[in-house]
Amino acid sequence: MADEPDVAIIGAGAAGISAARSLAAGGLTCLLLEALPRLGGRASTRETSVMPLDLGCGWLHSGDRNPWTRIAGELGFTVNRDTSAWGEQFRDLGFTPAEHTAARRAFARLSERLATTPPVTDRASDALDPADGWTSYLQVLSGYISGDELERISCRDYTAYDEASTDLNWRVPAGYGALVAASLPAQAAICLSTPVEAIRLDDRRVVVETAAGSVRARAVIVTASTNVLVGSSIRWPSALDPWRHAASRLPLGSNEKLFLEVIGSSPFEDETHLIGDPRDATTGSYYIRPFGRPVIECFLGGAGARAVAEHGSAAAFERATDQLAALFGSDVRRNLRPLLASDWTRTASIGGAYSHALPGQSDARTLLARPLDDRLFFAGEATHTTDFSTAHGAFQSGARAAAEVIAALAAVVT
Ligand SMILES: Cc1cc2nc3c(=O)[nH]c(=O)nc-3n(C[C@H](O)[C@H](O)[C@H](O)COP(=O)(O)OP(=O)(O)OC[C@H]3O[C@@H](n4cnc5c(N)ncnc54)[C@H](O)[C@@H]3O)c2cc1C
Repeated sequence: MADEPDVAIIGAGAAGISAARSLAAGGLTCLLLEALPRLGGRASTRETSVMPLDLGCGWLHSGDRNPWTRIAGELGFTVNRDTSAWGEQFRDLGFTPAEHTAARRAFARLSERLATTPPVTDRASDALDPADGWTSYLQVLSGYISGDELERISCRDYTAYDEASTDLNWRVPAGYGALVAASLPAQAAICLSTPVEAIRLDDRRVVVETAAGSVRARAVIVTASTNVLVGSSIRWPSALDPWRHAASRLPLGSNEKLFLEVIGSSPFEDETHLIGDPRDATTGSYYIRPFGRPVIECFLGGAGARAVAEHGSAAAFERATDQLAALFGSDVRRNLRPLLASDWTRTASIGGAYSHALPGQSDARTLLARPLDDRLFFAGEATHTTDFSTAHGAFQSGARAAAEVIAALAAVVT
């Protein structure tokens, strides 16, 4: 272990790798310490016999201004710019065009109220209008977008993201996680399977303790998720209590993915989409045969994703198969085989999907992003005030924290 780097980075996800790139470009040595046995954190591509599958981030949101689009080009990854099929309900199965139009209108009205006439409570559910109907549908969309129900979502936070988004959603066929992992700079030292157990400030350095030994660095960048910051897996200096309090106001929601392999001749068509049951707030959203490959991705958010953590992936696969059989006919059961499932909530060093601000708490993002004593710096998706919950927000936060470190260390005589 390089035990006296200029900078130790806790976590080798999109934020940590981005910070390492900026530090290397700025001529500083860095060591990434990562609890998992792989790079990428919530960016995770799994190679399968069918195709590379992204268990975490899969879409380059705001693709036209997403830094990963440029990095993909530099590293020789193809970016697919086709329009996503999300908005469609394949052959109107289980959701008539009139219902779909009404449900979409209810969502547009809610988004408009969140932005223009938000309730004083800043609680998104208080902007629901019963006259619009479709509350279950709006809750399920909230689960997909924010990982939690509208009761726990800040209007201000939601709108900050929405207004900054360019609504262009692109993909990397080789996998977003593969792209993030490939972007680690050659100069960065990394220790995988090395959970940080404690952080201490001594006279001039920050000491990071792991089971494999201690690291003394001039500065540390922390990129662990908000749920990890709040939890007890790392012993923090008490001076960090205000940061951990800020993190507690930005909890991770729940989102999970299930991948089903499509076998034999089936009614599933390439690049199509449907929602399993728009009246059920736990329903899956099904992306069918992405890039024409024999796979269906079932995306779950909020209550639907929490059920996976509670009842296990076997039950979730059964439920997804039941939903598809209800829409396409029970013959499709023989076309479907469970392939892969995510387990973000129960992955100890992650603890959920992506952050959302609780009502009235959107300022916590700025509080979490502040440095402590020009030695401890914070990055990670939750520290971004508009692009939170994404891999590009994580990237930008890592670059921001690295710039802060470079400026702070340049001002210090060692
Ligand atoms: C199901 C799902 C779908 C998603 N879809 C999209 C999408 O389509 N597009 C998009 O842009 N974003 C998406 N996201 C969100 C995106 O993946 C994340 O916002 C982003 O990857 C977070 O990066 P990060 O570096 O901030 O955090 P992380 O990726 O969590 O990195 C932090 C790292 O710190 C490590 N760590 C934690 N504790 C310790 C410790 N004690 N010692 C050492 N290491 C530690 C963790 O293991 C982790 O690797 C999705 C996420 C999920 C879960």
